[in-house]
Amino acid sequence: MNKTSHHLVIDLSASHGLTSTSQEFQNISIDYLSVKLEDLLVKPGKSVLSQLNKLSDHLGWHNKVVLDARFSKVDKEGMCVIKSRFDGSRIKVSMDDVIALILSLKPNIILLQGNQINQEMLKQLSQLAASLFVTHKGGQSMSPCNSHQFYETNDRPTLEFGDFWMPSDIMSQSCDGLVYSNAGLIDIKESSYEHAFEPLSDHCECPTCQQGFTKSYLHHLFHHTPLLSFRYLVQHNVFNILG
Ligand SMILES: [Zn+2]
Repeated sequence: MNKTSHHLVIDLSASHGLTSTSQEFQNISIDYLSVKLEDLLVKPGKSVLSQLNKLSDHLGWHNKVVLDARFSKVDKEGMCVIKSRFDGSRIKVSMDDVIALILSLKPNIILLQGNQINQEMLKQLSQLAASLFVTHKGGQSMSPCNSHQFYETNDRPTLEFGDFWMPSDIMSQSCDGLVYSNAGLIDIKESSYEHAFEPLSDHCECPTCQQGFTKSYLHHLFHHTPLLSFRYLVQHNVFNILG
């Protein structure tokens, strides 16, 4: 794998993001963790967040952090409204509080929604050594893969989003037991792999295959300890997609 040509981002807010530890992500060359501020405001919540010195410390992450500070809903008073996915309660936060939080969390990259911010806010955020990306209305998709929806608001070095965002399908495929092999995408759940004592792919140098794990073993893990198998499968899949 050419580690210098790819920057890989894992979206911690995606449903499967938290099943691997930060260390494991770093072992498979994940360069960035991405988190949604909306999710952080629900858990651990604003009072905890405002006491943090740095978001990366809270995440136990030593590489870079992308903070997605775009909100699904902003009401007429300009308050960001977040609905908790745990209990359905609503949390309201002013944009001034959001800017103060971002300043204290010190992410490396900040994603913002153009119609939710103004020049004054951008000026405040420019104190940070962070790259700002602004999504403009009209680019309705919130997907960061569409780099044309962004422009850089300062002259700091940045990355091309289309090149490094972790495709969410790798996460969901791994969770479903779908694995990249010499024969294309295979389904490790299938009973035909119960006695397949060969590696997922020949000559694969990913951390999973380097440990000598066979299709048979991963088939067994998938059916008995699915979370553990997911970690190994995502490591292999990410490595092979980038290879
Ligand atoms: Zn492998």
